[in-house]
Amino acid sequence: MYTVRHRKDSFLGTIITMAVLGQWRYFPKTHIAAISLITIIVFFAIGKSSDTQQKREIQTLVLNSEAVVSSVAAVETWQQTELKSGDNLSRVFTRHSLSAADALAIASSAPKRVLNLQPGQIIKWQSSESNNVTRMRIETSPLIAHVFERTIEGDYDYQLDEKVADRRPKFAHATIKSSLFLDGAKQDIPQSTLIELAGLFGWDIDFALDIRPDDEFSLIYEELFLDGERIGFGNILIAQFINRGREITAIRYEDGKGDAQYYDPSGHSMRKEFLRNPIDFARISSRFNLKRKHPVLNKFRAHRGTDYAARTGTPIKSTGDGKVIFAGRKGGFGNCVIVQHGSRYQTLYAHLSKFNRSARKGRRVKQGQVIGYVGSTGLATGPHLHFEFRVDGVHRDSLRIKLPKSRSIAKDQKSAYQAVADRMIEWLKSQRDNVRANDGSLSLTQSPSDLADDA
Ligand SMILES: [Zn+2]
Repeated sequence: MYTVRHRKDSFLGTIITMAVLGQWRYFPKTHIAAISLITIIVFFAIGKSSDTQQKREIQTLVLNSEAVVSSVAAVETWQQTELKSGDNLSRVFTRHSLSAADALAIASSAPKRVLNLQPGQIIKWQSSESNNVTRMRIETSPLIAHVFERTIEGDYDYQLDEKVADRRPKFAHATIKSSLFLDGAKQDIPQSTLIELAGLFGWDIDFALDIRPDDEFSLIYEELFLDGERIGFGNILIAQFINRGREITAIRYEDGKGDAQYYDPSGHSMRKEFLRNPIDFARISSRFNLKRKHPVLNKFRAHRGTDYAARTGTPIKSTGDGKVIFAGRKGGFGNCVIVQHGSRYQTLYAHLSKFNRSARKGRRVKQGQVIGYVGSTGLATGPHLHFEFRVDGVHRDSLRIKLPKSRSIAKDQKSAYQAVADRMIEWLKSQRDNVRANDGSLSLTQSPSDLADDA
């Protein structure tokens, strides 16, 4: 029933499919409730464009008279500029000899903080002979424009012109010959999507060490279109990686509260959790304490970690899957390893006697993997591990902090998720079979809901 075709009029189909799948993140929350509203916009837009068509025809007709042409040109001419680094509205106005007072009036007519000007954004305007801006359009993204219209009183009316992108699912498949990025790029998968893909599987696959030739991956991701032109890429809807025969699948699912996450087919989060302690059977010799007297320096200095007393050579484990971002000497820490976990978490392991071979900068480590061995390098009175846990760059007490749980699908969402997951997996599989059958030429004609209807 809901068919997604690669045609402009598939817009509604996509919207409905997305509603079915729950892929609303890209849309402003205020629009979510109202498919009907979007329908109205679609018809409105169609009406508007045919209007423009008529206008153009009229203009073509009057072009014959030179007098009329010049007056039309005076009204219709838009000028435009691209914002450079360090630009603000008054600089742009000065550069183009526009009224400085207008710059202030325009800036103050927009709601606060709405005009977040960045290099590369486009400003278009029309001006009068006295260099007053009569109309201005600041395009902060392909989807968002701020429109200012001069009133008779000389101030400006502000309007937000927000467009909705058409999201079209796209299938891609690649077999690894050299790397995820090179072989993915060969299949025209955008780099941003490949980075996201690596992040999705980053807790399960060590892309530096685990990848083998003939590993393969398939995914369906969104391309964003506006007026038939591709303006960017949306979410990965489903991705599957076959690493040395091991199949790992991530499915995007939005819960009832509008939170989207990736889960495996049985509903476990793709994000993993942390171990509380990096050493087994150790004694905690010093706790997190912001007012501790330092045993070596003998002065008050915050202790932003937990110390584990243990024999030299005791293995130290990474408390979570992650990537080694530092392995080397670091002042009072002595031999030190820092691991980045996802985008928010970091763990630090200090005073190591030696590093494990796996703990090299840039390498991925698994939860529980040995990264080094207890020692007393740096400022240490005896062999111990100094362990730190940082969240968004802030030191937290690793023994007391609520560690992120790898949240599974909630019980009340389980059956809804299972239905979506089954359809998505079936969709991916049918696309891959298509590619194999047609040797690469494919069109994505089915949505998961079609498959459900067939089943
Ligand atoms: Zn310490």
